[in-house]
Amino acid sequence: MDADNLSFPPGAVLGHYDLPMWRSIAGRAMELPCCTDCGRFHYPPGPSCPYCLSPSLVWKPLSGKGEIISWVRFERTYLERYPAPYKVIAVRLAEGPVMISNPEPLDEAACAIGATVRLVYAELDDHTVLPRFRLE
Ligand SMILES: [Zn+2]
Repeated sequence: MDADNLSFPPGAVLGHYDLPMWRSIAGRAMELPCCTDCGRFHYPPGPSCPYCLSPSLVWKPLSGKGEIISWVRFERTYLERYPAPYKVIAVRLAEGPVMISNPEPLDEAACAIGATVRLVYAELDDHTVLPRFRLE
């Protein structure tokens, strides 16, 4: 898939290291880099493994499973696309990394630390696809 044909989140900074991630999200099969030396996934993508500094990485699909480790509810609108109220969650992926995202729906009432979530893909009006999490 050509990067020019993808629609990215507003303000996204796309570089050499995160473009494959956004391509996989657009294809609704999110992948993250995984170290071939120590076997650990990492997020955000980068040039080498943050744990053992190996430059030997492969992109692998995520299981889609995770657990909320923190959340916050925004009562003020900062971005037109995110009208308040909405929640931001920190999710510990089953593969290890922590991702900052949103619940689906954005103001999910049952967000709680320790809640099990599943990765879903939200498509915005302009066809931008974002990774979010739905409570199991
Ligand atoms: Zn490593």
